[in-house]
Amino acid sequence: MTMDSMTAGLDVLVVGAGISGLATAFHLSRAGLSVEVIDPAAKPGGVIGSVRRDGMLYETGPNSALDTTPKIGELVEAAGVKAEMRFASEIANTRFVVKGGKPVALPMSPGAFLSTPLFSFGAKARLAIEPFIGKQPADEEETIAHFVRRRLGVEFLDYAIEPFVAGIYAGDPERLSVPAAFPKLHALEQRWGSLIKGQFLGARERRKRAETAKNTAKSFSFAGGMQVLTDALAKRAGQVTLGAKAIAIERLPDGTFVTTIERDGARTTRHSRAVVVATPAYAAAALVERFAPEASRALAQVEYPAVCVVASAYARKDIAHGLGGFGLLAPKKENRALLGTLFSSSMFEGRADAGHALLTTFVGGRRNPALAADTDERILAEVGREHRELLGATAPPLWSALTRWPRAIPQYELGHLKRIAKLAEAEAQVPGLRFCANYRGGVSVGDCIANAAGTAESLAPWLQARAAVR
Ligand SMILES: Cc1cc2nc3c(=O)[nH]c(=O)nc-3n(C[C@H](O)[C@H](O)[C@H](O)COP(=O)(O)OP(=O)(O)OC[C@H]3O[C@@H](n4cnc5c(N)ncnc54)[C@H](O)[C@@H]3O)c2cc1C
Repeated sequence: MTMDSMTAGLDVLVVGAGISGLATAFHLSRAGLSVEVIDPAAKPGGVIGSVRRDGMLYETGPNSALDTTPKIGELVEAAGVKAEMRFASEIANTRFVVKGGKPVALPMSPGAFLSTPLFSFGAKARLAIEPFIGKQPADEEETIAHFVRRRLGVEFLDYAIEPFVAGIYAGDPERLSVPAAFPKLHALEQRWGSLIKGQFLGARERRKRAETAKNTAKSFSFAGGMQVLTDALAKRAGQVTLGAKAIAIERLPDGTFVTTIERDGARTTRHSRAVVVATPAYAAAALVERFAPEASRALAQVEYPAVCVVASAYARKDIAHGLGGFGLLAPKKENRALLGTLFSSSMFEGRADAGHALLTTFVGGRRNPALAADTDERILAEVGREHRELLGATAPPLWSALTRWPRAIPQYELGHLKRIAKLAEAEAQVPGLRFCANYRGGVSVGDCIANAAGTAESLAPWLQARAAVR
């Protein structure tokens, strides 16, 4: 163990170089603090990764993000990549849901809603009573499935919300908690007593907060893919040390931290005044066990189902479907192998030339963990079959690239908010400790960016107000 870094002393060690850790480190560096970010991976960005192959560009994690908060534009601008930012094409406003084995466009206007075959006449008429349905007592945590059945009816659960929840969380609406996973939906009911009323009446309040609702926010990425942002942040986030895994964090009697790091089989330490734990919850649980045992236990309970992402490159002529949309989602009721497929080359220019189509398909999640754990051959065969049956693929893809995320996305299931409250308690008891990652305050890239800004805003003044340990 070398003690060089002990004497050097950092203001902040950020553990984990996903978007949460990088954005936090970026803000803290800009505030003039000395920051190091460590991550065992070979590249920064966590689950964000953009790969070029044969003139195409695919993503191994998020394909786009929603521009829901001004914090995103601010970060993109400050990171110097505004010129590379791209909004999804108009076409991407169309989204398909599989019904009866066929992709059906989600209705985007009241007229289209009335005529869509996605919902029966009874289900549409049922919406008229939504404003008159009482609200759930604020302290009674409800699952998404229960909430939607109660307010909107079972067809909306099956053909709108369930596939949407599978698309965001790879999750199960029978387990996900409304206040934890969809806090704005919960607030809408609590504030207005109705989703429909709240949708109209709440618009003014959202404008005041300069926020855009997730259903109207624009999807964006970058000319070179989502990794453009994390690469740019990594260049300006202080020292970023890759191939370096934190294996333990200790708190010294003077309140500072010593983190033990494993790199190339050797162990070193870092001494810092503050630590931002920006790893997935299961890794965070082990790191803080010694000085924040309750937070550690809570973190260990957050589940992460496996997801596989398959990028498939086709000759455009080999896909019969027009691919005029964002992609398709498959409801559980339809018993398909996939959760959904993004029409990646329709969303953003430059993902494939006119002669090719790039599709990104997600399998696994809470719904189908067995498939996500199966062999590459089986997964690729299932995805190929789905493309044939749902999109009219007449030939196999030119190539496919499979990315496995054995623990992909944290599930905000019943009890999540109580578990996460333990983190704030630990932060209050252990000054200088912060938890910032996608198991807290939202899983989307935009939520991670907003939470990272908040973490830096609370930590920087605290550090600046105290003398350096060096
Ligand atoms: C397949 C997939 C598709 C998605 N699609 C979308 C989408 O379309 N739009 C959207 O908004 N969001 C999407 N998301 C969600 C979003 O991408 C993530 O929630 C977000 O990027 C997570 O960022 P993070 O920094 O919190 O965590 P991560 O990206 O998981 O980063 C955590 C980092 O911690 C590191 N780490 C782990 N252990 C240690 C250790 N002991 N020491 C040091 N470092 C450690 C890891 O190597 C990793 O780099 C998707 C997620 C996945 C997995």
